[in-house]
Amino acid sequence: MSLSYRDLLTRLKNNQTVTPKAKVAKLELPKPDIIWVGRKTIFRNFMDFSRIMIRDPDHLLMFLAKELATAASLDGERAIFIGRKQRQSFTVLIDRYMRYFITCSICGSLDTHLEKSRRLRFLVCEVCGARSSVRSK
Ligand SMILES: [Zn+2]
Repeated sequence: MSLSYRDLLTRLKNNQTVTPKAKVAKLELPKPDIIWVGRKTIFRNFMDFSRIMIRDPDHLLMFLAKELATAASLDGERAIFIGRKQRQSFTVLIDRYMRYFITCSICGSLDTHLEKSRRLRFLVCEVCGARSSVRSK
């Protein structure tokens, strides 16, 4: 008539082994939406990247600004860079950002977060537990 406790447990366990999907080591990122206004480059969907990558927008912004050797600021959802920058540059730099600050160097997982100690930043992997220092910005 009813399932025994043991049966329920077995059933739960079975469900658990079925449910979690293997993590795909890829983030679904949109294309950078770039427009140029005068001598400025506007990255219109900047915040989408920060949200999808689960990274501090300021950290991402500083990284891009430094790599592009220019000044940048946040404006709502958008990031504004001084000078005319190519869309391709943003694609390349976001790839690089993912390598430096998101991808676990040991197992390749993207399920990671950054931890800050006094002077260093660490990339901590949720999957394999690796903790590697990353370059400061
Ligand atoms: Zn890992």
